[in-house]
Amino acid sequence: MNRNAIDELKQRIPLLEYAQAHGWKATRSVRGGRFLGLCPLHDDHNPSFLVHPCRNLFYCYGCACGGDVIRFAELYHKVKFPQAVVLLHQWCGAMPLLEQVTNFYRMQLTRHREAVSYLQQRGLHTSEVIDHMRIGYAPGRCLRAWLGQLGYAPPALHQAGLVNASGYDTYAHRIVFPLEGNLYGRSIGDAAPHRFLPGGKGGLYAWEQVRQCQEIILVEGLFDYAVLWQAGFHNVTCLLGNHPNATQLQQLCDGPRNVYIAFDSDANQSGQRAAQCVARSLRAQGVPAFQVPLPDGHDPNSFFVQGGNAQQFQLLLEGARP
Ligand SMILES: [Zn+2]
Repeated sequence: MNRNAIDELKQRIPLLEYAQAHGWKATRSVRGGRFLGLCPLHDDHNPSFLVHPCRNLFYCYGCACGGDVIRFAELYHKVKFPQAVVLLHQWCGAMPLLEQVTNFYRMQLTRHREAVSYLQQRGLHTSEVIDHMRIGYAPGRCLRAWLGQLGYAPPALHQAGLVNASGYDTYAHRIVFPLEGNLYGRSIGDAAPHRFLPGGKGGLYAWEQVRQCQEIILVEGLFDYAVLWQAGFHNVTCLLGNHPNATQLQQLCDGPRNVYIAFDSDANQSGQRAAQCVARSLRAQGVPAFQVPLPDGHDPNSFFVQGGNAQQFQLLLEGARP
């Protein structure tokens, strides 16, 4: 790659955005339009990582690392310069592609009765929640042709995990929820229920919208999230599973808050055990955690689907125990 292409790549990628997409949070802004937060490059306990968005540079007072977005990618991913350049190119390419796919799936949703009736079955009946979560549907055809018109070549789509080797949509017959840098697909047919693109599921769902809340409701799945949000509980976030990854745990512990864990209440106690495990991890970091006592056999989604309402769920929250 020549010098100009490298410079162009650096200009295309805002360092702040790239760092944030990889879980970095600014804890405060400082003079000169700069942002300070914990350093993602060393084990930092006092915010010492500074990002200067205008100059597109970073510097850490703790580990004395600094530089541009390529240097950041090298250190963050622990790769050499050429690999860092490849990763950044992929990142640039992946973002708009997933946006395009999300838009395509959103357009399909109302055109397919099976998708709308599935959402109704799962208790999602307002357009507000569907818009808020940008929910779509993969009908299982047209994706490749549509993206082809936009200039995406089939090998790129295959590499991204969106189509298989025969060009068939890998999310076919799934309700699709966009995540940061990924897509979650819930099958409405016989296929395995959950699907993600290769790569991590990322941090907590819609974390930026709730991180300032004093009290957070933590659920396992996006359908739990959806019914709670629809019922007016906007202080909800979701793990996409019942075991938090390191990023998610760090997010839950990055400020003073109480966490209400509303996991599935399973007959075999697996949801309850997972909730206890998360509660222990949070308390170990000084975050008060409470377990919401859902009726046996229920998760927040089925609680609302079977007629539960906001007042009843509020009572469950008030009855939550450490
Ligand atoms: Zn550092």
